[in-house]
This record gives sequence, C-alpha cells and structure tokens, in this order.
Amino acid sequence: MTSEIKQVPLLDLRRLAPDLKAELEDAFKRVLESGHFILGPEVDALEKECAAYLQVGHAVGVSSGTDALLIALMALGIGAGDEVVCPSYTFFATAGTIARPGARPVFVDSSPDTYNIEAAAIERALTPRTRAIMPVHLFGQCAEMDPILALAKDRHIPVIEDAAQALGSDYQGRRAGSMGELGCFSFFPSKNLGALGDAGLVTTNDAALAEKLRVLRAHGGKPKYHHSIVGGNFRIDALQAALLRPKLRRLDGWTAQRQKNAALYTELFTAAALGDRLGLPVVRQSRHIFNQYVIRLPGAGRRDKLQADLKQRGIGTEVYYPVPMHKQKCFSEIAGTQILPVSEAAAQETLAIPVFPEWTEAELRHVAATVIELVRA
Ligand SMILES: *Cc1c(COP(=O)(O)O)cnc(C)c1O
Repeated sequence: MTSEIKQVPLLDLRRLAPDLKAELEDAFKRVLESGHFILGPEVDALEKECAAYLQVGHAVGVSSGTDALLIALMALGIGAGDEVVCPSYTFFATAGTIARPGARPVFVDSSPDTYNIEAAAIERALTPRTRAIMPVHLFGQCAEMDPILALAKDRHIPVIEDAAQALGSDYQGRRAGSMGELGCFSFFPSKNLGALGDAGLVTTNDAALAEKLRVLRAHGGKPKYHHSIVGGNFRIDALQAALLRPKLRRLDGWTAQRQKNAALYTELFTAAALGDRLGLPVVRQSRHIFNQYVIRLPGAGRRDKLQADLKQRGIGTEVYYPVPMHKQKCFSEIAGTQILPVSEAAAQETLAIPVFPEWTEAELRHVAATVIELVRA
C-alpha cells in the first residue's frame, strides 16, 4: 500500500543488487592485489568497452566529467580570445570549463520543451571568434543534432558534446558523444553510470585527437618527461575503472527501468488531467535515458512550494538548475544584461522528481499520487 511508504529520496546509491555488490567487491580486491592504481589494464579494458557501447572509435578515461570538458577544449587548442557557444541552462561545469583556459562562454537560450539548445539560436550567437559549439544533452535526451552538426560543418566549427547526463542516449540511431568531434561523459555517482567517486570519459572518432587527449591527460609528456604541449593530471584511477566495468554491463537494464518509471509517471500525470498546472517532460528522441525526470510548475513560487511540500512528505526532489549561467555572478561581465527568457523561466519552474531505477512501482506511484494531490490542492 502506498500509505506505508514513508520516504522516497531522489536516489539512494546504497540500494545495490547483491550480485552487483559481490562483483564490485571482486573488482576492488583485483585492483588491491594488482598494485596498479592509476591507468593500466583496467582502464584500457573500460575504454574499449565504453568505445564499443558508445559506437565511437576512441574512448579516453579521465578524472571527472569536468576534466573531460576541459581536456576536450585543450585538445582543440581553445584559449584566450576564443568563444564557445553553450547553453545557459546547464550545470556549471559546461561554462566553467570554457572560462578556465581563458575562453569566453557565449550563452544561448534553450528550447522551451526539451530544454536543449537548437541550431537557430546557436547560429545567431556565432562570431568570427567562435571556436567550438558545446551542446548539452540535458537530463538524458540528445539535443536536435542534425541541424547543429550541419551548421557546424558549414562554418568549420568543431562540436563538443557535453554528454555528461546522456551516456547511452541516442539521436537518430547515433549515440550521444559519437556525433561531434568530441564527446564528454561523467561517471559522477548520481549519473546513470556512476563510479564510486569521480571519473569521466572523452570520446572521439579522430585518432589524432584521441592520441592528443592521452598525452594531455598525463601532463602533455610524450615521451614521459618530454613536453611539447602543456597538459595536466587528468588520469582516471584503475579502481574506478574496475568498479565501472560491471556497472556498464547493467546499464541497459537500468536505462530500461528509468524509461519504464518515466512512462509510468507520464501516464499517471496525464490521467490526472492537471492541464497547464503541471508540465511534463517532452520526449523528442528515441532513447531519452532519463538521468532526470523533470516536471514544470508554471507560475510564481509554485515550484518552490511544491518542493517544500514534497520534502515534508518525505519525497526528495532537486532543482536543476536554480540559476542559469548568464545570471551567475562570476559571468556577470561576460553576460552583462543578457536576457534569456526560457532559461530564466526554467530555473524558476522546473523540478526533478525520483526516477532512480531501484525504486519500486509502489514507491513511484506514491510519488505520483502525492504530486497530483499537491498540484490539485
Ligand atoms: C555532471 C555534469 C558535468 C560534470 O561532471 P563531473 O563528473 O561532476 O565533473 C558536466 N556537465 C553536465 C551537464 C553535468 O551534468
């Protein structure tokens, strides 16, 4: 009975299937006994397995999703005086990594239904200084890539996909991270494929870029101690790679469960006929992997009130993201008085509710019933 359910947090990473727990313990032991803790055979194996899964030529393991973005920009030689077009409505790392090597993030507004950036808005933001376009596949759904790729090709501008939330998502049969020059992934624990700490991955179909990423990942030294370029320590731990491998084998099962959970929510919310009071995720691509299931509460203060009421009822939610990038203090000089209405409204009105694959159907029904009751009230 749903009335017996007391708490449904946004996610609970302790809820592990016993067989997976055993495999993770084996992986830990294997690395402990190998004495090999950074890069090495576990990382090589993970990279091969990820490249196959992501349908790309090369996958390079790195220290985090943030570092994946940073090293991708470094591999393209992007720095001071350069501009990179990206969404304003995204996680900070997208814009922060553009700014760190001295480039300028140029913020564009998102589509009001998918919250992803689109070619028309990107095109308006291009200047002779644009050195890359960085779409984000937000919440696990790919941006509308064909028009973006066509625009980029036409202007000879590389595309870096921020696929941190979209590992395993598809666009027209192609995997997220396989369409641009470079794809960047995060294995942050709350992502669909999460490590037990920080880790990330960069993908590319360009062998020369892949080689450059590998050199940059180890301070730019090639051979060791001889540096023709400046890199950093962006290496992935052997332990994280070993722990990720058995999880990668389960990813499609988890994705199917997330999609099932999302479909159940959408069915229940649609049946409740709440009209304009509750906006639901719009699925445009065939393989939305629902890193988040994000609902929308239009109207001043309604999102914050629902979040507070759900918290009181033991239901965990999160606001992704309360402040768009063009409104961040650190970018105030760059963005000036820029107005991006879709990003600003989304930051006020959206709320992620639990879609974690380990929640039971009873727990999900309890969440949906509570949301419906509160939205109706
Ligand atoms: C999580 C995330 C990142 C950063 O990944 P970390 O592994 O946490 O450094 C970058 N971009 C987006 C869109 C993300 O969601």
